[in-house]
Amino acid sequence: MAAPPQRPGFPARIDLGSGARPPARPAGRPAAAATVAQAAPVTSASAPQAASMARDPIPARARMLQQLMAEGIQDPLVLRAMGAVDRHHFVDGALVPQAYEDTALPIGLGQTISKPSVVARMTELLLQGGVRGADGRLGRVLDIGTGCGYQAVVLAQLATEVYSIERLRELHEKARANLRPLRLATVHLILGDGMVGFAKGAPYAGIIAAAGGEAVPEAWIDQLAHGGRIVAPVAVAGGQQALMVIDKSHQGVQQTILEAVNFVPLKSGLA
Ligand code: SAH
Repeated sequence: MAAPPQRPGFPARIDLGSGARPPARPAGRPAAAATVAQAAPVTSASAPQAASMARDPIPARARMLQQLMAEGIQDPLVLRAMGAVDRHHFVDGALVPQAYEDTALPIGLGQTISKPSVVARMTELLLQGGVRGADGRLGRVLDIGTGCGYQAVVLAQLATEVYSIERLRELHEKARANLRPLRLATVHLILGDGMVGFAKGAPYAGIIAAAGGEAVPEAWIDQLAHGGRIVAPVAVAGGQQALMVIDKSHQGVQQTILEAVNFVPLKSGLA
């Protein structure tokens, strides 16, 4: 029987630091067997974060976290989540050396994994405005546009349950393969049209989208819990896109437009 296709040997040319070695992998296990590091709880900002960065066996990721902090990401839970997920397991082998650079990378079918600063920024906005439990974690969240599954796994560090929906079968399957070795029982990958949300998981503590349309679909607002937040790209004047934050309360819905962003289009139907 032919061996299963494998990505180029981990860690390719990624900077693991002089003393670091690739994790041992049992024979027959796919090279994509990603790990999600179990970090100690972080309760205050910079010092514990700095300590956990110093322990990161992947210097490129430690540098990514430093850059995120320099760009204004402050929430220690978000920084910890970004530091706990192996972004290099979500990109194709040839792109592994660039996995921790602050850049979007192709994931096939003309789609991209968002750049880390945008993932962190949107995750922080969601966490700050979503419905959270006593432990600071979000409740159930909806992730529109699974792509390779990276954002869903970052969210899994911060939410009790993640529903992630993708309209392209091939990418849905790719995300399944990426997530399989992680055994994250709280992440549910759905093949479907995210334009209509995913009613079965509603109401959501937060909804995040990685694809932008002319407006935020009404279904997302309907499926958002009171006290919850949507973070999504939308079209603004001049053919541009910007991040929109929608906060829903019993008093109504409040929309805020933030900085310009550049996401792939939100499309309807499956493909
Ligand atoms: N969060 C992803 C980003 C993927 S890019 C990651 O971490 O990799 C955005 C994705 O949104 C693309 O895969 C695209 O196919 C998907 N998308 C666009 N419109 C959609 C829709 N209506 N429903 C579900 N997914 C959609």
